[in-house]
Amino acid sequence: MTSRFSGALQLTDLDDFITPSQECIKPVKIEKTKSKTGAKIKIGEDGYFDLSSGREQKLQKVEITLADCLACSGCITSAESVLVTRQSQEELLRVFSERKYTDSKGVTKNVSLVVISLSPQPVLSMAARYKLSPEEATSKLAGYFKSLGADMVLDMTVAEDLSLLEAQQEFLQRYQDQQNDPTSKNLPMLASSCPGWVCYAEKTHGSFILPYISTTKSPQQIMGSLVKQYLSKKKEVTPGEVYHVTFMPCYDKKLEASREDFYSEMLNCHDVDCVITAIEVEQMLGNSNMSLSDATEAALDWAWGDGEPAGVKGRAGSGSGGYADSIFLHAAEQLFGETNAQLVYKNLRNPDFREVTLEKDGKEVLKFAIANGFRNIQNLVQKLKRGKSPYHYVEVMACPSGCLNGGAQSRPVSGESGRALVQQLEALYAALPRATDRAARRLYAEWLDGRDSDKAKAVLHTAYHAVEKADIALNIKW
Ligand code: SF4
Repeated sequence: MTSRFSGALQLTDLDDFITPSQECIKPVKIEKTKSKTGAKIKIGEDGYFDLSSGREQKLQKVEITLADCLACSGCITSAESVLVTRQSQEELLRVFSERKYTDSKGVTKNVSLVVISLSPQPVLSMAARYKLSPEEATSKLAGYFKSLGADMVLDMTVAEDLSLLEAQQEFLQRYQDQQNDPTSKNLPMLASSCPGWVCYAEKTHGSFILPYISTTKSPQQIMGSLVKQYLSKKKEVTPGEVYHVTFMPCYDKKLEASREDFYSEMLNCHDVDCVITAIEVEQMLGNSNMSLSDATEAALDWAWGDGEPAGVKGRAGSGSGGYADSIFLHAAEQLFGETNAQLVYKNLRNPDFREVTLEKDGKEVLKFAIANGFRNIQNLVQKLKRGKSPYHYVEVMACPSGCLNGGAQSRPVSGESGRALVQQLEALYAALPRATDRAARRLYAEWLDGRDSDKAKAVLHTAYHAVEKADIALNIKW
Protein backbone atom coordinates (compact mmCIF):
# COMPACT_ATOMS: atom_id res chain seq x y z
CA MET A 1 0.00 0.00 0.00
CA THR A 2 1.31 3.43 -0.82
CA SER A 3 1.84 5.42 2.33
CA ARG A 4 0.09 8.79 2.65
CA PHE A 5 2.86 9.99 4.94
CA SER A 6 5.88 11.89 3.82
CA GLY A 7 9.13 9.99 3.83
CA ALA A 8 10.16 11.64 7.08
CA LEU A 9 7.10 10.21 8.77
CA GLN A 10 8.26 6.64 8.30
CA LEU A 11 9.89 4.69 11.06
CA THR A 12 13.51 4.86 10.02
CA ASP A 13 15.56 5.61 13.06
CA LEU A 14 14.33 5.72 16.60
CA ASP A 15 16.95 8.33 17.46
CA ASP A 16 15.57 11.43 15.77
CA PHE A 17 17.68 14.08 17.47
CA ILE A 18 20.62 15.72 15.74
CA THR A 19 22.94 15.13 18.65
CA PRO A 20 23.51 11.84 20.38
CA SER A 21 20.27 12.04 22.30
CA GLN A 22 19.15 10.67 25.60
CA GLU A 23 18.43 6.97 25.54
CA CYS A 24 14.89 5.68 25.73
CA ILE A 25 14.48 5.18 29.47
CA LYS A 26 12.08 3.33 31.73
CA PRO A 27 12.32 3.97 35.44
CA VAL A 28 12.40 0.79 37.54
CA LYS A 29 11.52 0.50 41.20
CA ILE A 30 14.17 -0.95 43.45
CA GLU A 31 13.22 -2.24 46.88
CA LYS A 32 15.80 -0.72 49.22
CA THR A 33 16.80 -1.59 52.75
CA LYS A 34 17.45 1.41 54.97
CA SER A 35 20.71 1.47 56.88
CA LYS A 36 21.69 3.49 59.92
CA THR A 37 24.43 5.28 57.99
CA GLY A 38 22.02 6.39 55.29
CA ALA A 39 24.03 4.47 52.66
CA LYS A 40 21.64 2.26 50.77
CA ILE A 41 22.62 0.86 47.41
CA LYS A 42 25.38 1.01 44.86
CA ILE A 43 24.21 0.68 41.27
CA GLY A 44 26.28 -1.58 39.01
CA GLU A 45 26.17 -2.60 35.33
CA ASP A 46 23.44 -5.22 35.61
CA GLY A 47 22.25 -4.95 39.19
CA TYR A 48 22.92 -3.27 42.51
CA PHE A 49 24.75 -3.90 45.74
CA ASP A 50 22.67 -3.50 48.89
CA LEU A 51 25.08 -1.90 51.35
CA SER A 52 22.88 -2.65 54.32
CA SER A 53 22.40 -6.36 53.80
CA GLY A 54 25.67 -6.87 51.92
CA ARG A 55 23.77 -8.71 49.20
CA GLU A 56 24.20 -8.27 45.49
CA GLN A 57 20.97 -8.22 43.50
CA LYS A 58 20.74 -8.84 39.78
CA LEU A 59 18.05 -6.81 38.00
CA GLN A 60 15.83 -8.30 35.35
CA LYS A 61 16.41 -7.02 31.86
CA VAL A 62 13.93 -4.20 31.26
CA GLU A 63 11.80 -4.46 28.17
CA ILE A 64 10.72 -1.21 26.57
CA THR A 65 7.43 -1.42 24.71
CA LEU A 66 5.04 1.12 23.25
CA ALA A 67 3.24 0.93 26.58
CA ASP A 68 6.23 2.66 28.17
CA CYS A 69 6.45 5.44 25.61
CA LEU A 70 6.65 8.95 27.06
CA ALA A 71 5.66 10.69 23.82
CA CYS A 72 9.04 12.29 23.41
CA SER A 73 9.59 13.38 19.83
CA GLY A 74 12.07 10.56 19.27
CA CYS A 75 9.59 8.07 17.84
CA ILE A 76 6.47 10.13 17.32
CA THR A 77 7.14 9.64 13.63
CA SER A 78 5.74 6.14 13.75
CA ALA A 79 3.58 5.61 16.81
CA GLU A 80 1.41 8.68 16.54
CA SER A 81 1.65 9.52 12.86
CA VAL A 82 -1.90 8.26 12.47
CA LEU A 83 -3.00 11.54 14.04
CA VAL A 84 -1.29 13.70 11.46
CA THR A 85 -2.39 12.38 8.09
CA ARG A 86 -3.28 15.87 6.96
CA GLN A 87 0.18 17.14 7.71
CA SER A 88 2.45 15.64 5.07
CA GLN A 89 4.46 17.21 2.28
CA GLU A 90 2.25 15.39 -0.28
CA GLU A 91 -0.82 17.03 1.23
CA LEU A 92 0.87 20.44 1.16
CA LEU A 93 1.81 20.05 -2.51
CA ARG A 94 -1.73 18.90 -3.31
CA VAL A 95 -3.21 22.00 -1.66
CA PHE A 96 -0.81 24.21 -3.60
CA SER A 97 -1.92 22.68 -6.90
CA GLU A 98 -5.66 22.16 -6.24
CA ARG A 99 -6.25 25.20 -4.01
CA LYS A 100 -8.58 23.20 -1.78
CA TYR A 101 -8.19 21.07 1.34
CA THR A 102 -10.20 18.71 3.50
CA ASP A 103 -10.33 19.85 7.11
CA SER A 104 -10.23 17.75 10.28
CA LYS A 105 -14.03 17.37 10.17
CA GLY A 106 -13.90 15.93 6.65
CA VAL A 107 -15.23 19.11 5.00
CA THR A 108 -13.58 20.13 1.72
CA LYS A 109 -12.89 23.87 1.47
CA ASN A 110 -11.65 26.14 -1.28
CA VAL A 111 -8.45 28.02 -0.54
CA SER A 112 -8.16 31.75 -1.25
CA LEU A 113 -4.97 32.42 0.69
CA VAL A 114 -2.04 30.15 1.52
CA VAL A 115 0.05 31.54 4.38
CA ILE A 116 3.36 30.03 5.50
CA SER A 117 4.72 31.07 8.92
CA LEU A 118 8.44 30.52 9.55
CA SER A 119 9.82 29.85 13.02
CA PRO A 120 13.53 30.59 13.51
CA GLN A 121 14.89 27.15 14.45
CA PRO A 122 14.17 25.31 11.16
CA VAL A 123 15.24 28.39 9.17
CA LEU A 124 18.64 28.19 10.90
CA SER A 125 18.70 24.44 10.30
CA MET A 126 18.26 25.08 6.57
CA ALA A 127 20.88 27.84 6.65
CA ALA A 128 23.42 25.42 8.15
CA ARG A 129 22.40 22.57 5.81
CA TYR A 130 22.81 24.66 2.64
CA LYS A 131 25.66 26.87 3.89
CA LEU A 132 23.64 30.08 3.63
CA SER A 133 23.38 33.01 6.01
CA PRO A 134 20.13 33.09 8.05
CA GLU A 135 18.95 36.08 5.96
CA GLU A 136 19.67 34.23 2.69
CA ALA A 137 17.97 31.07 3.96
CA THR A 138 14.93 33.11 4.98
CA SER A 139 14.51 34.82 1.63
CA LYS A 140 15.26 31.62 -0.31
CA LEU A 141 12.63 29.77 1.72
CA ALA A 142 10.16 32.61 1.06
CA GLY A 143 10.98 32.40 -2.67
CA TYR A 144 10.70 28.60 -2.68
CA PHE A 145 7.32 28.54 -0.95
CA LYS A 146 6.03 31.31 -3.21
CA SER A 147 7.21 29.38 -6.29
CA LEU A 148 5.09 26.46 -5.05
CA GLY A 149 2.01 28.64 -4.64
CA ALA A 150 2.16 30.38 -1.24
CA ASP A 151 0.51 33.80 -1.24
CA MET A 152 2.23 35.11 1.91
CA VAL A 153 5.33 34.00 3.83
CA LEU A 154 5.58 35.50 7.32
CA ASP A 155 8.03 35.23 10.19
CA MET A 156 6.60 34.31 13.57
CA THR A 157 8.30 37.03 15.62
CA VAL A 158 5.08 38.81 16.51
CA ALA A 159 3.50 35.57 17.79
CA GLU A 160 6.67 34.78 19.79
CA ASP A 161 6.46 38.28 21.31
CA LEU A 162 2.80 37.86 22.24
CA SER A 163 3.54 34.47 23.80
CA LEU A 164 6.42 35.91 25.85
CA LEU A 165 4.52 39.02 26.95
CA GLU A 166 1.56 36.92 27.99
CA ALA A 167 3.73 34.38 29.82
CA GLN A 168 5.47 37.25 31.69
CA GLN A 169 2.09 38.56 32.80
CA GLU A 170 0.85 35.11 33.77
CA PHE A 171 3.96 34.54 35.88
CA LEU A 172 3.49 37.78 37.82
CA GLN A 173 -0.11 36.83 38.54
CA ARG A 174 0.80 33.32 39.67
CA TYR A 175 3.65 34.63 41.85
CA GLN A 176 1.32 37.04 43.63
CA ASP A 177 -1.42 34.40 43.96
CA GLN A 178 1.11 32.02 45.49
CA GLN A 179 2.11 34.65 48.07
CA ASN A 180 -1.55 34.95 49.04
CA ASP A 181 -2.11 31.20 49.14
CA PRO A 182 1.10 29.20 49.62
CA THR A 183 -0.82 25.91 49.34
CA SER A 184 -2.03 26.67 45.81
CA LYS A 185 -0.51 25.05 42.73
CA ASN A 186 0.49 28.26 40.99
CA LEU A 187 4.24 27.74 41.20
CA PRO A 188 6.45 26.60 39.73
CA MET A 189 4.99 27.79 36.48
CA LEU A 190 6.09 25.31 33.84
CA ALA A 191 6.55 26.36 30.23
CA SER A 192 3.87 25.30 27.76
CA SER A 193 5.33 25.90 24.32
CA CYS A 194 6.70 22.37 23.86
CA PRO A 195 3.95 19.92 22.83
CA GLY A 196 6.25 16.93 23.44
CA TRP A 197 6.37 17.89 27.12
CA VAL A 198 2.68 18.85 27.31
CA CYS A 199 1.65 15.55 25.71
CA TYR A 200 3.81 13.63 28.20
CA ALA A 201 2.39 15.61 31.13
CA GLU A 202 -1.20 14.98 30.06
CA LYS A 203 -0.61 11.28 29.51
CA THR A 204 1.54 10.38 32.46
CA HIS A 205 1.05 12.88 35.28
CA GLY A 206 -2.39 14.26 34.43
CA SER A 207 -4.22 16.26 37.04
CA PHE A 208 -1.20 16.41 39.36
CA ILE A 209 1.01 18.34 36.95
CA LEU A 210 -1.42 20.25 34.71
CA PRO A 211 -2.18 23.16 37.11
CA TYR A 212 1.51 24.09 37.02
CA ILE A 213 1.68 24.36 33.24
CA SER A 214 1.39 27.88 31.87
CA THR A 215 -1.89 28.38 30.05
CA THR A 216 -0.27 30.77 27.57
CA LYS A 217 -0.44 29.36 24.06
CA SER A 218 2.72 28.51 22.14
CA PRO A 219 3.92 30.88 19.40
CA GLN A 220 2.68 28.43 16.75
CA GLN A 221 -0.87 28.54 18.06
CA ILE A 222 -0.86 32.31 18.64
CA MET A 223 0.33 32.68 15.06
CA GLY A 224 -2.62 30.47 14.10
CA SER A 225 -5.06 32.83 15.81
CA LEU A 226 -3.40 35.85 14.22
CA VAL A 227 -3.62 34.39 10.74
CA LYS A 228 -7.14 32.93 10.99
CA GLN A 229 -8.72 35.78 12.92
CA TYR A 230 -6.78 39.00 12.36
CA LEU A 231 -5.20 38.47 8.93
CA SER A 232 -8.22 36.83 7.28
CA LYS A 233 -10.32 39.84 8.26
CA LYS A 234 -7.77 42.24 6.79
CA LYS A 235 -7.66 40.21 3.59
CA GLU A 236 -11.47 39.97 3.51
CA VAL A 237 -11.60 36.18 3.26
CA THR A 238 -13.23 33.71 5.65
CA PRO A 239 -10.88 31.96 8.11
CA GLY A 240 -11.72 28.61 6.50
CA GLU A 241 -10.50 29.86 3.12
CA VAL A 242 -7.04 30.50 4.59
CA TYR A 243 -4.73 27.49 4.51
CA HIS A 244 -2.15 28.10 7.22
CA VAL A 245 1.15 26.23 7.24
CA THR A 246 3.84 26.57 9.92
CA PHE A 247 7.50 25.68 9.41
CA MET A 248 8.68 24.05 12.65
CA PRO A 249 11.56 22.04 14.18
CA CYS A 250 9.70 18.88 15.26
CA TYR A 251 6.85 16.48 14.49
CA ASP A 252 5.28 17.19 17.89
CA LYS A 253 4.10 20.50 16.49
CA LYS A 254 1.87 18.52 14.10
CA LEU A 255 0.17 16.95 17.11
CA GLU A 256 -0.18 20.35 18.74
CA ALA A 257 -1.82 21.83 15.63
CA SER A 258 -4.21 18.85 15.52
CA ARG A 259 -5.50 19.37 19.07
CA GLU A 260 -9.24 19.88 19.38
CA ASP A 261 -8.50 22.89 21.65
CA PHE A 262 -7.15 24.63 18.57
CA TYR A 263 -10.24 24.04 16.46
CA SER A 264 -12.68 26.95 16.57
CA GLU A 265 -16.35 25.99 16.27
CA MET A 266 -17.12 29.65 15.62
CA LEU A 267 -14.61 30.02 12.78
CA ASN A 268 -15.17 26.46 11.66
CA CYS A 269 -11.48 25.69 11.20
CA HIS A 270 -8.19 24.86 12.90
CA ASP A 271 -5.69 27.66 13.61
CA VAL A 272 -2.91 25.76 11.83
CA ASP A 273 -3.81 23.41 9.00
CA CYS A 274 -0.43 21.89 8.24
CA VAL A 275 2.97 21.76 9.93
CA ILE A 276 6.01 21.18 7.79
CA THR A 277 9.52 20.64 9.11
CA ALA A 278 13.10 21.28 8.00
CA ILE A 279 13.70 17.64 7.19
CA GLU A 280 10.56 17.49 5.05
CA VAL A 281 11.43 20.66 3.09
CA GLU A 282 14.89 19.20 2.52
CA GLN A 283 13.18 16.10 1.07
CA MET A 284 10.85 18.21 -1.09
CA LEU A 285 13.85 20.06 -2.50
CA GLY A 286 15.69 16.77 -3.03
CA ASN A 287 12.69 15.30 -4.85
CA SER A 288 12.94 18.22 -7.29
CA ASN A 289 16.72 17.78 -7.55
CA MET A 290 17.11 21.20 -6.02
CA SER A 291 19.21 22.78 -3.34
CA LEU A 292 17.78 25.66 -1.34
CA SER A 293 20.56 27.76 -2.87
CA ASP A 294 18.86 27.31 -6.28
CA ALA A 295 15.63 28.97 -5.10
CA THR A 296 14.89 32.52 -6.16
CA GLU A 297 14.92 34.93 -3.23
CA ALA A 298 11.76 36.75 -2.16
CA ALA A 299 11.04 39.18 0.66
CA LEU A 300 9.03 38.07 3.67
CA ASP A 301 5.59 39.59 3.95
CA TRP A 302 4.56 41.83 6.82
CA ALA A 303 0.94 41.94 7.98
CA TRP A 304 0.99 43.85 11.26
CA GLY A 305 0.94 47.55 10.33
CA ASP A 306 3.92 49.82 11.04
CA GLY A 307 6.77 48.06 12.74
CA GLU A 308 10.16 46.55 12.49
CA PRO A 309 11.31 44.96 9.22
CA ALA A 310 10.18 41.36 8.67
CA GLY A 311 12.74 38.63 9.38
CA VAL A 312 13.41 35.79 11.81
CA LYS A 313 14.63 37.18 15.13
CA GLY A 314 16.52 35.81 18.12
CA ARG A 315 16.21 36.31 21.88
CA ALA A 316 18.55 36.34 24.82
CA GLY A 317 18.72 32.95 26.52
CA SER A 318 17.91 29.54 25.17
CA GLY A 319 17.45 28.74 21.49
CA SER A 320 13.95 27.51 22.37
CA GLY A 321 12.65 31.08 22.54
CA GLY A 322 14.34 32.47 25.64
CA TYR A 323 11.34 31.99 27.93
CA ALA A 324 13.27 31.60 31.19
CA ASP A 325 15.46 34.67 30.60
CA SER A 326 12.65 36.89 29.45
CA ILE A 327 10.26 36.02 32.30
CA PHE A 328 13.08 36.20 34.89
CA LEU A 329 14.16 39.72 33.84
CA HIS A 330 10.58 40.96 33.70
CA ALA A 331 9.73 39.52 37.13
CA ALA A 332 12.98 40.86 38.67
CA GLU A 333 12.03 44.34 37.54
CA GLN A 334 8.31 44.24 38.23
CA LEU A 335 8.40 42.40 41.55
CA PHE A 336 11.73 43.52 43.03
CA GLY A 337 12.67 46.72 41.17
CA GLU A 338 15.83 45.08 39.75
CA THR A 339 16.44 46.75 36.41
CA ASN A 340 19.84 45.19 35.88
CA ALA A 341 19.47 41.61 37.08
CA GLN A 342 22.23 39.32 35.82
CA LEU A 343 21.44 35.84 34.58
CA VAL A 344 24.27 33.55 35.61
CA TYR A 345 23.18 29.94 35.16
CA LYS A 346 24.60 27.11 37.23
CA ASN A 347 24.65 23.68 35.60
CA LEU A 348 23.13 20.98 37.78
CA ARG A 349 23.35 17.32 36.74
CA ASN A 350 24.26 18.26 33.17
CA PRO A 351 24.19 21.34 30.91
CA ASP A 352 20.58 20.47 30.04
CA PHE A 353 19.44 21.15 33.61
CA ARG A 354 20.57 24.54 34.82
CA GLU A 355 19.25 27.11 37.24
CA VAL A 356 19.51 30.83 37.91
CA THR A 357 18.65 32.73 41.07
CA LEU A 358 17.86 36.29 42.14
CA GLU A 359 18.71 37.01 45.78
CA LYS A 360 17.34 39.87 47.84
CA ASP A 361 18.54 40.46 51.41
CA GLY A 362 20.11 37.00 51.43
CA LYS A 363 16.88 35.33 50.34
CA GLU A 364 16.31 33.57 47.02
CA VAL A 365 13.32 35.48 45.70
CA LEU A 366 13.41 34.11 42.16
CA LYS A 367 14.71 30.68 41.25
CA PHE A 368 14.32 29.60 37.64
CA ALA A 369 15.55 26.55 35.77
CA ILE A 370 15.81 25.22 32.24
CA ALA A 371 15.18 21.48 31.96
CA ASN A 372 15.71 19.95 28.52
CA GLY A 373 15.18 16.30 27.62
CA PHE A 374 13.01 13.66 29.26
CA ARG A 375 15.60 12.46 31.73
CA ASN A 376 15.74 15.93 33.29
CA ILE A 377 11.98 16.37 33.00
CA GLN A 378 11.44 13.16 34.95
CA ASN A 379 13.79 14.37 37.67
CA LEU A 380 11.91 17.66 37.83
CA VAL A 381 8.52 15.94 38.09
CA GLN A 382 9.80 13.63 40.82
CA LYS A 383 11.07 16.66 42.77
CA LEU A 384 7.66 18.28 42.42
CA LYS A 385 5.88 15.14 43.58
CA ARG A 386 8.09 14.95 46.65
CA GLY A 387 7.45 18.65 47.38
CA LYS A 388 11.17 19.32 46.87
CA SER A 389 11.11 21.63 43.85
CA PRO A 390 12.72 24.96 44.76
CA TYR A 391 11.70 26.67 41.52
CA HIS A 392 9.35 29.48 40.64
CA TYR A 393 9.57 28.85 36.91
CA VAL A 394 10.99 26.10 34.70
CA GLU A 395 11.48 26.27 30.94
CA VAL A 396 10.70 22.66 30.09
CA MET A 397 11.60 21.36 26.63
CA ALA A 398 11.42 17.74 25.52
CA CYS A 399 14.47 17.77 23.26
CA PRO A 400 17.99 17.65 24.69
CA SER A 401 19.44 21.14 23.95
CA GLY A 402 15.90 22.40 23.20
CA CYS A 403 14.26 23.36 19.92
CA LEU A 404 17.44 23.90 17.90
CA ASN A 405 17.94 20.14 18.30
CA GLY A 406 14.34 19.32 17.39
CA GLY A 407 13.44 15.89 16.09
CA ALA A 408 12.77 17.13 12.55
CA GLN A 409 15.73 19.44 12.04
CA SER A 410 18.11 18.60 9.20
CA ARG A 411 20.54 15.85 10.07
CA PRO A 412 24.32 16.38 10.11
CA VAL A 413 25.89 15.66 6.73
CA SER A 414 28.42 12.85 6.58
CA GLY A 415 31.52 13.60 8.60
CA GLU A 416 29.76 16.32 10.61
CA SER A 417 29.23 15.76 14.32
CA GLY A 418 25.76 16.28 15.77
CA ARG A 419 27.19 18.20 18.72
CA ALA A 420 29.08 20.56 16.40
CA LEU A 421 25.92 21.14 14.35
CA VAL A 422 23.87 22.06 17.42
CA GLN A 423 26.64 24.41 18.56
CA GLN A 424 26.61 26.02 15.12
CA LEU A 425 22.83 26.51 15.33
CA GLU A 426 23.18 27.98 18.82
CA ALA A 427 25.75 30.47 17.53
CA LEU A 428 23.53 31.39 14.57
CA TYR A 429 20.54 31.90 16.89
CA ALA A 430 22.55 34.09 19.27
CA ALA A 431 23.69 36.27 16.34
CA LEU A 432 20.19 36.86 14.92
CA PRO A 433 18.85 40.41 15.14
CA ARG A 434 17.00 40.81 18.45
CA ALA A 435 13.23 41.06 18.44
CA THR A 436 11.48 44.15 19.72
CA ASP A 437 7.87 43.73 20.77
CA ARG A 438 6.46 46.89 19.21
CA ALA A 439 4.08 45.16 16.79
CA ALA A 440 2.86 42.77 19.50
CA ARG A 441 2.09 45.65 21.87
CA ARG A 442 0.20 47.43 19.13
CA LEU A 443 -1.82 44.27 18.44
CA TYR A 444 -2.91 44.13 22.09
CA ALA A 445 -4.53 47.51 21.58
CA GLU A 446 -5.75 47.11 18.01
CA TRP A 447 -6.91 43.47 18.04
CA LEU A 448 -7.24 42.21 21.62
CA ASP A 449 -8.92 45.13 23.43
CA GLY A 450 -5.82 45.67 25.57
CA ARG A 451 -3.71 43.58 27.99
CA ASP A 452 -5.72 41.55 30.51
CA SER A 453 -8.91 41.89 28.47
CA ASP A 454 -11.30 38.95 28.20
CA LYS A 455 -10.50 38.77 24.51
CA ALA A 456 -6.75 38.58 25.15
CA LYS A 457 -7.34 35.79 27.66
CA ALA A 458 -9.58 33.87 25.26
CA VAL A 459 -7.27 34.24 22.26
CA LEU A 460 -3.86 33.81 23.93
CA HIS A 461 -4.57 31.05 26.45
CA THR A 462 -5.52 27.40 26.29
CA ALA A 463 -6.34 24.46 28.56
CA TYR A 464 -4.88 20.99 29.13
CA HIS A 465 -6.59 17.70 29.76
CA ALA A 466 -5.52 14.66 31.69
CA VAL A 467 -5.71 11.78 29.24
CA GLU A 468 -7.47 8.70 30.53
CA LYS A 469 -5.52 5.60 29.72
CA ALA A 470 -8.33 4.11 27.63
CA ASP A 471 -8.47 7.26 25.46
CA ILE A 472 -4.94 7.06 24.25
CA ALA A 473 -4.40 6.70 20.52
CA LEU A 474 -3.89 3.14 19.34
CA ASN A 475 -5.13 2.07 22.76
CA ILE A 476 -1.61 2.23 24.09
CA LYS A 477 -1.38 1.51 27.81
CA TRP A 478 0.93 4.08 29.44
FE1 SF4 B 1 9.51 20.45 19.50
FE2 SF4 B 1 11.09 22.22 20.78
FE3 SF4 B 1 9.59 20.51 22.16
FE4 SF4 B 1 11.67 19.61 20.80
S1 SF4 B 1 11.77 21.02 22.55
S2 SF4 B 1 9.63 18.67 20.90
S3 SF4 B 1 11.65 20.96 19.01
S4 SF4 B 1 8.84 22.15 20.81
